[in-house]
Amino acid sequence: MAASTKKDIQVQEWKRESGWPRVKAAEKRKIESYCRAYMRFLSQGKTERQAFKLVLNEAEKQGYQDIESVPDQGGALSAGSQVYRQWCGKSLMLIKVGKRPLSEGMRIVGGHIDAPRLDAKPNPLYEDGELALLDTHYYGGIKKYHWVAMPLALHGVVVLKSGETVDISIGEKPDEPVFCVTDLLPHLSQDQAKKTLAEGVTGENLNVLLGSLPVEDKEPRRVRRYILRLLKEQYGIEDADFASAELEVVPAGPARECGLDRSFMLGYGHDDRISAYAGYRALLDLKQVPEYTCVALLCDKEEIGSVGSTGMESNFFENTIAELVGRCQKGGSEMTLRRCLERSRMISADVHSVHDPNYAEVSSPHNMAQINGGIVLSKYGGARGESHSSDARAEFLAVLRRVFDDAGVLWQTAEIGKVDQGGGGTIAMFLARYGMDVVDCGPGLLSMHAPWEVAGKLDAYMAWKGYRAFLSDGR
Ligand code: MN
Ligand code: MN
Repeated sequence: MAASTKKDIQVQEWKRESGWPRVKAAEKRKIESYCRAYMRFLSQGKTERQAFKLVLNEAEKQGYQDIESVPDQGGALSAGSQVYRQWCGKSLMLIKVGKRPLSEGMRIVGGHIDAPRLDAKPNPLYEDGELALLDTHYYGGIKKYHWVAMPLALHGVVVLKSGETVDISIGEKPDEPVFCVTDLLPHLSQDQAKKTLAEGVTGENLNVLLGSLPVEDKEPRRVRRYILRLLKEQYGIEDADFASAELEVVPAGPARECGLDRSFMLGYGHDDRISAYAGYRALLDLKQVPEYTCVALLCDKEEIGSVGSTGMESNFFENTIAELVGRCQKGGSEMTLRRCLERSRMISADVHSVHDPNYAEVSSPHNMAQINGGIVLSKYGGARGESHSSDARAEFLAVLRRVFDDAGVLWQTAEIGKVDQGGGGTIAMFLARYGMDVVDCGPGLLSMHAPWEVAGKLDAYMAWKGYRAFLSDGR
């Protein structure tokens, strides 16, 4: 049967467009205040450990208590209880117990708080050409040429043999020095200029400039030894202590408003602290006892494949839910745990690509997201035929459409880019293995994985609004 070509059937077409015309003045003010607070968080949380501490402090202020301090018996936790569980000071789960039994599942928003960076190598400190340098190994998917000739800061911990932890943070305050990786002057770059972008600056080129002052003797490595003297005086650190350290080199300085109209935010580590922040804030902002138990999950190691004891491949998530089940239900059992995991719904809160007119050739022709067009719902990711992704089922996507539309959340749906141009993964697949419904949903970024990434203010706020609507949806 042919459809009528007359005007009696109204159709609505989806198109990629800015969300700003759909935001009223009162909400614009909320967007501004949300983004001010987020930029403070981003500027203070330059590493996974720092972001972790900021979130934990805030949660404790709002009455969340360590689940390990709650008696390990059924009935110890009930509707309205607020607890957290952490792992290694890097991964964190905030939990607000809902009215329904855990066997009916939870509502989870999970993002990661690690970001691409340069890690100091285990023997990082060396001298070459009478300059002291820090040898690094990059973490996550970076474009190496981004990291030269820009101000860098050094953050991290050195754990002494005694077990004492020395915190290091240099390069953020105006009176502190910064660091840099030098680049070749254009005048001598004839050979470098012929190399590909991937080869022009290599991983082994990423050595951070530390100093040039020598100690006053004629022995070798005078400059290196001067740096060691400074470290000993100011931090009590010896050369051998680098063997038990985690030192991260990141872009120096705070997040800033971006654009003449200030509609963007330029910052280091939007991926994925923008979603992690939105997720934990959304949970803390739930003032009522939710129908379903709600979880904000902040994890580590996403950028290197979610490996390790603090990544989502570990049992931290599952173990935490087992601890929760044991304290909520009398006789909490393995069966309750399995049902809880299987019947849960999750938003894998992670950033997405957006259309960049500078690189329009890699945009998926009719399926690209728009910055400041609302959060991006992404059915699947992966690469080469959707491989290595988690594919959200249509039924779950319909649930989210309803939740978002009912709450006035601006959202869009898109693919990462043109087919067979590349791809990427998130933590979604590590939760999908339990059988729960999981979908990737978060703000879009320009210059993703660059030292300074661009986020849209509208999108940052809509992530919080969308996650809150999802957590509080009791249907
Ligand atoms: Mn991410
Ligand atoms: Mn990433």
